[in-house]
Amino acid sequence: MTATPDSRTASAAPATRHDWQRGEIEALLALPFNDLLFRAQSVHREHFDPNAVQISTLLSIKTGACPEDCKYCPQSGHYNTGLEREKLLQVEAVLEQARRAKEVGASRFCMGAAWKHPSAKDMPYVLEMVKGVRALGLETCMTLGMLSREQAEQLNDAGLDYYNHNLDTSPEYYGEIITTRTYADRLETLDHVRQAGMKICSGGILGMGESVNDRAGLLQQLANLPTHPESVPINMLIRIQGTPLEHVEDLDPLDFIRTIAVARILMPRSHVRLAAGRELMSDETQAMAFFAGANSIFYGERLLTAQNPQASHDKQLFERLGLHPEQREEADDATQEAALQAQMARARLDALTTDASAPRHTTRGAAADA
Ligand code: SF4
Repeated sequence: MTATPDSRTASAAPATRHDWQRGEIEALLALPFNDLLFRAQSVHREHFDPNAVQISTLLSIKTGACPEDCKYCPQSGHYNTGLEREKLLQVEAVLEQARRAKEVGASRFCMGAAWKHPSAKDMPYVLEMVKGVRALGLETCMTLGMLSREQAEQLNDAGLDYYNHNLDTSPEYYGEIITTRTYADRLETLDHVRQAGMKICSGGILGMGESVNDRAGLLQQLANLPTHPESVPINMLIRIQGTPLEHVEDLDPLDFIRTIAVARILMPRSHVRLAAGRELMSDETQAMAFFAGANSIFYGERLLTAQNPQASHDKQLFERLGLHPEQREEADDATQEAALQAQMARARLDALTTDASAPRHTTRGAAADA
């Protein structure tokens, strides 16, 4: 790389720090846009293939009627958003969806349940889902709400790769958004996940009426965790009719890009995910987000439905931008298929005793925590 003053600044930045001050992060957020993006892209290139994007697929395994009151979320039982509620899916139905996701190129399969925390009754099914999806050769991720230390260990033992639990916003603004669980509760769950040996997926949501200082506060919390989250989803609020944030002001897309860029600088080895709200962004905004250091997406919101228009649009966007899916090492297909058949046979036995509802074939309304 040519040694311009800016590139020297970028290269001189420590690879990983865990002692970021709020003011330092605000100063990064306030950099001239071109300087910020250049610096973020420089950091990105030191740690990643700049044209590779990790692709995940998200399935809601239990939808709606959540006892939490997250003000952005259509799944909260506190608000009337008209969302169709669904009980926990059957294990076999989840595995079928995972297989289809793999066929269209996903490398990670994320499963979300709208719970305060998983119950003892539901854990065995959740664990079977993890084992089955893993047997397909996919990375596994779950978001199930708060976890006890014991539940985290059970999930780790089942082979769960990632656990998603977002911090959502700064500690100061958090009480404006959620009152039914505390920031400390969230940090405790992240600690249980880490202690159990799993990777952490944790990020936040922008556009909830928070200040720039709050955005800096969210990033400060994430970057100062003892180990950076391996995956950092940055969501743009989708305003849902019936939720308290229905009428909140639009976020300037450039402020969204700035936050992605600073996340990349603060957590240089983490995958920064362009998460919820992507379908509302122009192709140009998404392209800028990739340039700012985003290198993970959920592929096709309606991936598992028949028409799948979003997935085909994503494919075109990847082609236009010269991006390619990040690859992961996999076991050979025969090994995976044998393991999956064994898993599905066990799941069929389980289905005789589960009270789970019939399968659904959409990812719509998946847990907003993801
Ligand atoms: S974001 Fe998650 S925890 Fe909060 S209401 Fe929605 S499903 Fe429940």
